Amino acid sequence: MAAQKKLKICLASSELTPLAKTGGLADVSSALAAYLHSAGHDVRVLLPRYARIDASGIDIKPVEALSDLKLQMGSREQTYSIDTATLPGTNLTIYLLRCPEFFGRDGIYTHDHDEHLRFVLLSRAAIEMCQRMGFAPDIFHSHDWQTSLIPLYLRSTYAWDKLFANTRTVLTIHNIGYQGRFPAYILDELHLTGAEHHLHQDDLKEGVINFLKTGVLYADFITTVSPTYAREILGEDYGMGLNELLRARVNTLVGILNGVDYAEWNPESDTLIPRTYSAEDMRGKEVCKQTLMQEMNLTYSEKRPLLGIISRLVGQKGIELIDNVVPSLLARRDFALVVLGSGEPRFELFFTRLQQAFPGRVCYYRGFNNRLAHWIEAGSDIFLMPSLYEPCGLNQMYSLKYGTVPIVRETGGLADSVEQANIDAGTGTGIVFRDYNEAGLAWAMNTALDLYDNKQAWQLIVANGMAKDYSWQRQGARYVELFRQLSDMQ
Ligand code: ADP
Repeated sequence: MAAQKKLKICLASSELTPLAKTGGLADVSSALAAYLHSAGHDVRVLLPRYARIDASGIDIKPVEALSDLKLQMGSREQTYSIDTATLPGTNLTIYLLRCPEFFGRDGIYTHDHDEHLRFVLLSRAAIEMCQRMGFAPDIFHSHDWQTSLIPLYLRSTYAWDKLFANTRTVLTIHNIGYQGRFPAYILDELHLTGAEHHLHQDDLKEGVINFLKTGVLYADFITTVSPTYAREILGEDYGMGLNELLRARVNTLVGILNGVDYAEWNPESDTLIPRTYSAEDMRGKEVCKQTLMQEMNLTYSEKRPLLGIISRLVGQKGIELIDNVVPSLLARRDFALVVLGSGEPRFELFFTRLQQAFPGRVCYYRGFNNRLAHWIEAGSDIFLMPSLYEPCGLNQMYSLKYGTVPIVRETGGLADSVEQANIDAGTGTGIVFRDYNEAGLAWAMNTALDLYDNKQAWQLIVANGMAKDYSWQRQGARYVELFRQLSDMQ
């Protein structure tokens, strides 16, 4: 058999670890790109050069041939440039879209009036970057609403270009809850040059343009980030209005569980945590717990389990359930809780008050802090993730590797990566509850706390989790297989 051909892939993403991250999308685009590159494929990644990108330690250089480029967006002419850098921890060259007018702002995402233009620019700049480089991708890989107009652009504004004659488009949905819905008066600025009729007509009549929906309509193939979520979004409860369209595309939809970048998330080699440890020698984990609790003003005792939460504080993550269950449980049982995250003010207020009500037992750190995230994974005994829905979720998989037993709800990637503990059989890796209600979470937390008191059983469940392999080596190979099938279809 002839050697399999190496693929050419263009990946456009609004987040990329460690340069720009609000959640799992950043980890996935970065680790997937690194995997594809290490497997010998030619992958070109484009990311906006946000003001918040910490350029220290990264050598960002302008590309002369890609400087002061112009893009027509309706009546607006936008100037931008493309820089290059090396993705930290790899030798992959990545590309950064420099346009201070759009990206020189505080956050990665904004509620500004021109939010759509920021990501239309990213999408079209990725296409035009390929043109200028004479790079004919086998696969154009879009991620979430921010780059999901690419499939339509390739069929309309750029359809004339033979460079893309054999290009196939893949859209990965990381979270269907964010669709990029904009008022229809932005239509001109999309610069679809005569292809406006391809947009969803009922939406247009209602005065809406939905970016993710457009991607669902025009991508050659759709993936999402776990097999269970791929099934869930076909139904009304989880499909967020796109379920009908997705059902029509069920033959071109697949769920691929995200992988974990074990170069970053591994207690044996983690340079951020106080002490490394392994399944064979867990002494370092107790040191991590003590150090974490001390730093967070929590009172340590060997018998007191420490629960950890790292999360965007939004409805999706089950914070309401925590609000309904955890205060009374704290009053009844001895455990401590450390929380890292920010988000909706009502949830931030809840954790602030909880800390006040239980000094020495609850600590809430508001904000984004990668080092603390590593400390919590390493130092906690139990990780709490009672999500209402969870496309994949990464922290539960990090938790498994760090010997931190996850409590999860049976949804999306949580259902696909955590297996119910069965003490009699000595199997399972965490505590899984099914119904999104107070009784469900209370049962799961009580079960986990009881299990913690049974040291022998606990150690077994911890060991089962640590032995799991969710590396990108496996999951990345699934993307390659899919990309190959698509490019062989030509
Ligand atoms: P989502 O993408 O929905 O936010 P995931 O579990 O897929 O959820 O990914 C979350 C990622 O973001 C993880 O790597 C997690 O450690 C990280 N993260 C979330 N909130 C914070 C925070 N406040 N500080 C540091 N890292 C965070």
